[in-house]
Amino acid sequence: MNEIKWRALFFLVILAIAYLLILNIFNLNIAILSLVFTLTSVILFHTYWLYQLDLWLDNPSIKNLPNGSGIWNKIFSKIYRTETKQKKTKQELFEVLDLFKSGAGAMLDGVVAVNKNNEILWSNKTAQRMLNIIPKNDYNRPIFYIYRNTYFKAYIENENYEDTLKINNQTSMPPLEIKVAYFGSKQRIIVFRDITKETEIQNMRKEFVSNFSHEIKTPLTVLIGFIETLAEMKSSKSVSEKKIISMMSGQANRMNILIEDLLLLSHIESNQHVNRSEKINIAKLIRDIKKNVIEVKGNSHKFDFSIDSKLDLYGARQEIESAFNNLITNAIRYTPSEGQISIRWNLINTLPIFEVVDNGIGIPEKNIKRISERFYRVDPNRSRETGGTGLGLAIVKNVVNQHQGEMKINSDIGLGSSFKLIFPADRAIK
Ligand code: ADP
Repeated sequence: MNEIKWRALFFLVILAIAYLLILNIFNLNIAILSLVFTLTSVILFHTYWLYQLDLWLDNPSIKNLPNGSGIWNKIFSKIYRTETKQKKTKQELFEVLDLFKSGAGAMLDGVVAVNKNNEILWSNKTAQRMLNIIPKNDYNRPIFYIYRNTYFKAYIENENYEDTLKINNQTSMPPLEIKVAYFGSKQRIIVFRDITKETEIQNMRKEFVSNFSHEIKTPLTVLIGFIETLAEMKSSKSVSEKKIISMMSGQANRMNILIEDLLLLSHIESNQHVNRSEKINIAKLIRDIKKNVIEVKGNSHKFDFSIDSKLDLYGARQEIESAFNNLITNAIRYTPSEGQISIRWNLINTLPIFEVVDNGIGIPEKNIKRISERFYRVDPNRSRETGGTGLGLAIVKNVVNQHQGEMKINSDIGLGSSFKLIFPADRAIK
């Protein structure tokens, strides 16, 4: 721009000198005439190149960019340089895009890109096959019109993609694992993974555990019966015999509790899509737990209750009772004598919440994430000594999941723990 400015200034100075010379040599009329002539030529010159530029802008391509003359040559060569650079960048972008498309296209997982309104922007061949996407019809349509599933819709709309979503309740579809990642501004890549094989293996494992537990239950019951008979027999027994029988009885009962827990877990899992909608009187359920559990196992602890007795719940009574039971039993087992345990059942912001708070030993932060896994214990010895099976929290988590709720755990080592079961608002009966 600087150069153009200096050229224009130079041109005006030359024009002024020429005008003064003409004025000195000839008369004023001739001077004005030559000035008008010069200015007209300049205007015509620039108008011509402006017209050429306008023509080129209608169909901009590097091939037919005019050369220009004078200052226009400079302008056009600048345009040429910018255009060539842009073309190169575009070319590079297309190459990267092609690479991405062919990479994503070759993936065994289905990949769909959606915009902020969840409309499909692009999909790879696997996704088109999996979800029946027809690009020319379905692009720019919301993905929920093509893949209709209420869990999927809620998951995408919730915008919390930390955990993956598993869907295996659609008859026309294989079981899918869904992951989401953001790109650009609010656009998302949704990856659909077929988990048929994994699900089959998992089902086989569950089936095995369930069958095994059923099979072992009968001989174990017989064994426990014999041990009880043996213990009751009047024949004189030595102290060590009595001790052995009592140990046998203790271990057999432990095994029985473990089998019961395993059976309960597989029962909850095999009834995944059952409608859990019994009307449960929670205040009464807690009164029962108080009588059967707290008054038996929690004599040396202090309890306080905050129970909304008008608040009931839609759910599976036996499962809910087992979940509440497990949390209260854990609070007793992991809180030293004289410790304080609070039991709360209230509606908080329309959500029915059951909470057990203790001031017991607490859980190290690094273990909290894993304690609801089967057989995961922070301190296996303490768990066994207090009669734990390592399955309590796995049962609680499964129950709450089957009721579309969530479990939240807060704990400080040495200060205590809080376990909250948060149920969806539409399960509350008020
Ligand atoms: P367990 O039968 O071993 O208690 P759970 O599944 O009920 O099995 O609990 C898993 C682990 O979580 C326990 O072994 C214990 O380490 C920890 N835990 C559970 N509840 C509490 C609690 N209230 N306070 C401290 N630790 C707890």
